[in-house]
Amino acid sequence: MNSRIPGFYTRDRSERLSTVADRRDLDADAVDALDADGEVGETVDGLSENVVGSITYPLSVATNFVVDGEDVLVPMAVEESSVVAAASKGALLARSTGGFTTDTDGPYMIGQVQVADVADPTAARLRVLERAEEIAAVANDQGVLVSHGGGCEDVTARVVDTPAGQTVVVHLLVDVRDAMGANAVNTMCEAIAPVVADATGGRVSLRVLSNLADCRLARARCRVDPDALVDSGDDSEEASGIDGETVRDRIVEAWAFAAGDPYRAATHNKGIMNAVDALAVATCNDWRALEAGAHAYAAREGYGPLTTYEVGDDGDLICSIELPVQVGTVGGATAVHSAGRAAMDVLGVEGADEFASVLAALGLAENLASLRALVDEGIQSGHMKLHAENVARQAGAPAGLVEEVAARMVAGEDIRESRARELVEELG
Ligand code: NAD
Repeated sequence: MNSRIPGFYTRDRSERLSTVADRRDLDADAVDALDADGEVGETVDGLSENVVGSITYPLSVATNFVVDGEDVLVPMAVEESSVVAAASKGALLARSTGGFTTDTDGPYMIGQVQVADVADPTAARLRVLERAEEIAAVANDQGVLVSHGGGCEDVTARVVDTPAGQTVVVHLLVDVRDAMGANAVNTMCEAIAPVVADATGGRVSLRVLSNLADCRLARARCRVDPDALVDSGDDSEEASGIDGETVRDRIVEAWAFAAGDPYRAATHNKGIMNAVDALAVATCNDWRALEAGAHAYAAREGYGPLTTYEVGDDGDLICSIELPVQVGTVGGATAVHSAGRAAMDVLGVEGADEFASVLAALGLAENLASLRALVDEGIQSGHMKLHAENVARQAGAPAGLVEEVAARMVAGEDIRESRARELVEELG
């Protein structure tokens, strides 16, 4: 198999798909599974390069959310089971005490212009600061954001020690309004390069935004009565019998574990981002930017958890989260993806700040429900039910038998395709 395909990008989508099918000897079912027809095909073709088709994610809606006094339905696109259930469960836990209260810094992104080969970095930094107003004016001349009430609001400069020596880094603080802002900020960074080169006497190198969006933080908090934390069990399992105060204290202990151990914190934060990314994917926002920002922020004082759990005066569990949230309600891929726009309609937020508030609340809800399950019945029971249903489907169980076959495999602690086939025969 030769991966060299000259001019692959110049072919149309169906030609690219048939070329790949030939090279990899794909059967007709595989080709059909990848193919994207009609509007979906047109849309995805324009979003990336070398597109051959599309892949479908489930689009779910998490329920029970109250954010700053308003009910919100949260669209989530994620292929992992239990993520949406956990978000809805966490929101339900917070709901009886009024839901989530949030706060955001505002939509401020940072753009970086790096200058190398500067003879006098410390003085060069000062020369940049002396010309801050001029630099901001050149950035704002680009007009992309100013017409919407945003624009460059501040110019700062740093001298950074790198393995390649000292480099001067100019930061633009840009109010990107309702955009995620990457393209807009990058345009500004490129525009100011000549002034920065002149001020520093150095060679301008990189001109690009930073995803460590620590001036665009979103925060959410909620409180939960310990009684609400008691596992009442469901049809498939017994309640665990652990009382609410114990569950509350174990959640605080589990958070403390993450605060003390980066191995645990990585998974703690991965759980938060399960939900945050799912809303970003559903609305065609850049989930990689959110990921980069969240983990870089979590690592600012040694890697730690993005959430905190405490016990309040009245014995309630007090839950909070703070993380950088770089999302837009305008521009980006959302502007051209009809399903992404429709997901924004489901969400119904006004502007990027309100969107950031919901993302923070969602991350907290997910983490709260995951920790509650982890310290109590464990997360595998919920996961296993869905896993067993998938195994039953793979084994050819008809739709009417999937739940029964799965339930019997879970009860017998034997979740295998061959066991599923036996059960299908027995029950069919
Ligand atoms: P964009 O390029 O679509 O710009 C936003 C547009 O919306 C601007 O033209 C602006 O004039 C317009 N607009 C209309 N109403 C507005 C309002 N109320 N507030 C603000 N702008 C308004 O999108 P963007 O947000 O600049 O960039 C986002 C895209 O950049 C994403 O697709 C992302 O994947 C991509 N990107 C990300 C990175 C990164 O994160 N490192 C780097 C490069 C590109």
